[in-house]
Amino acid sequence: MTYTVKEIFYTLQGEGANTGRPAVFCRFAGCNLWSGKESDRDKAICKFCDTDFIWDSAVDIGKFSSSEYLSQVVADLWPQNGLGVPLVVCTGGEPLLQLDAELINAFHLKGFEVAVETNGTLKAPKGIDWVCVSPKANTTLVITEGEELKLVYPQEGGHPDSYKNYGFDNFYLQPMDGIDRKKNTQMAIEYCKANPNWRLSVQVHKIIGIR
Ligand code: SF4
Repeated sequence: MTYTVKEIFYTLQGEGANTGRPAVFCRFAGCNLWSGKESDRDKAICKFCDTDFIWDSAVDIGKFSSSEYLSQVVADLWPQNGLGVPLVVCTGGEPLLQLDAELINAFHLKGFEVAVETNGTLKAPKGIDWVCVSPKANTTLVITEGEELKLVYPQEGGHPDSYKNYGFDNFYLQPMDGIDRKKNTQMAIEYCKANPNWRLSVQVHKIIGIR
């Protein structure tokens, strides 16, 4: 398997239950809900994406011909002082287009916990330690349980009630970014206060100015 990766970087997780935890982010190229081209946004299934996940051979980190090679590049970014539990967050685009059991195993052999941030429409290989599903309205979730469900809010056709009976350990509402961010944040706060099975997730990395 060749893995096409947009970028790999070491930072702090900025969202959800693991906010503040150091992690290596591995951003896979490509998504099954949008081509990534602005000209296609109107007809995309997911229309609010703010992530560049199109692979550009001129600037992006590249294609990895083996799980061993990719896991070593990730491992090299973790501090070599034996402190903390290494964490890799596989994101995208849609990481489950590429993340397979072989790569999960390679990360584990390097001592990493493996987290994934997925739209939940594709089956996940076994062995992932932290599954975070961020559902998109008008799609069918294939992954209905895991550690975290993080719903960008509000979404037309994606009311939080539709997800409340799924088997996740944590339920987060994350205000939709953009020109209505303030209003969306207030709405999310009110929703969480009225429905305390939900918690608020703010994108801390954007507030403090890290990746
Ligand atoms: S599913 Fe995620 S990566 Fe894909 S277009 Fe939507 S927000 Fe972007």
